Amino acid sequence: DLGLDVRDIRGDFPILGRVMRGGAPLVYLDSAATSQKPVHVLDAERDFTLRHNAAVHRGAHQLAEEATEIYEAARATVAGFIGAEPDEVVFVKNATEGINLVAYALGLTGTVTAGKNIVVSEMEHHANLVPWQELARRTGATLDWFPLTDEGRLDLTSIDDLITEDTAVVALTHQSNVLGTLNPVELIAERARRVGALVLLDAAQSVPHRPVDVAALGADFLVFSGHKMLAPGGIGVLWGRRRLLADLPPFLTGGSMIEVVTMERSTYLPPPQRFEAGVPMTAQAVGLAAAVDYLTALGMEQVERHEVELTEQALALLSDIPGVSVIGPRTTEDRGATVAFTVDGIHAHDVGQVLDEVGVAVRVGHHCARPLHQRFGVAATTRASFYVYNTPEEVETLARGVREAQKYFG
Ligand code: PMP
Repeated sequence: DLGLDVRDIRGDFPILGRVMRGGAPLVYLDSAATSQKPVHVLDAERDFTLRHNAAVHRGAHQLAEEATEIYEAARATVAGFIGAEPDEVVFVKNATEGINLVAYALGLTGTVTAGKNIVVSEMEHHANLVPWQELARRTGATLDWFPLTDEGRLDLTSIDDLITEDTAVVALTHQSNVLGTLNPVELIAERARRVGALVLLDAAQSVPHRPVDVAALGADFLVFSGHKMLAPGGIGVLWGRRRLLADLPPFLTGGSMIEVVTMERSTYLPPPQRFEAGVPMTAQAVGLAAAVDYLTALGMEQVERHEVELTEQALALLSDIPGVSVIGPRTTEDRGATVAFTVDGIHAHDVGQVLDEVGVAVRVGHHCARPLHQRFGVAATTRASFYVYNTPEEVETLARGVREAQKYFG
């Protein structure tokens, strides 16, 4: 059996041993918001901080050399995880910053101008919508979007009207943080390439959960956050094609990203340094590399398969409950382990509260995807999301909790 040894994995996450108010053990089903961290990640950060800490790329002393070496090794580890080269990997704060960096820079290069369009979708997280709204507003470009089908997939029927010779950028989520939908990004990237448009993928919900190879996707830029993949907060990744990054102006300017500075003007280092102004989040990068090592040791195919099993179980158990409706694909062929649902007559916040009372942590609300919720005519959903440490028993607890909410409010 090549499956994950979940009991073993859980031992690496002390937080999962917590007993919550009311005496129930924690059932953590909110990894799509942020994941828990294994001791390996904390140990790596701690070891770096206690033994090697120094400002990278600066001092002439041994510690600075060690810190730089460890930081750059972390970059190489992260690059390898997504099939990229180290100099194509920029460390940023999170996916949000990565998207803002690209949107800002593309406004400066003249890639996005009046008369051009930017294409997103109706299922975007606000992080991959608002920066493009801003860019469109600043440049006079148009913002267009793929609508959604009732099953929660991209409606591709209008693709020829959306992606045209005027398209400058297509910015799409790889996997929805609400519906779980895994989008056919290869196909869309191919269409974008034909008209010379750039493609940015928001991979915040895909890179943590399945094998991702940037070359195979055909994208130009891809972003994700460490905190959703067992790593610390405050570290994320922007991957970009070397040639494109080389032509991109910086987002933040200051120390560490310059070549020569005079009082009048400055020249900038090549990527990735050009995009890493100031002293970076070094221990966090080390933690991210440790998380990548941890996931790699589990095997991303196994991670994906484990999540498919839990998702199938959740879809089956939830659809067995009268009054519960899942929004998003009902089969696991093109979806991940994020299950959002409504319960007839009960507000998501009340569902969440009853679940909280039995130790089940889920997210309620619009999950930073308000237009998506409007599309489905709901103000809020309850969202359960699964990761490497979740068990079938926990999925059962979720379903039981939803039935209890119905009894309580019904
Ligand atoms: N995109 C998607 C699909 C997400 O799920 C999230 C996190 N909820 C983000 C972007 C933003 O990630 P962060 O807050 O770490 O920048």
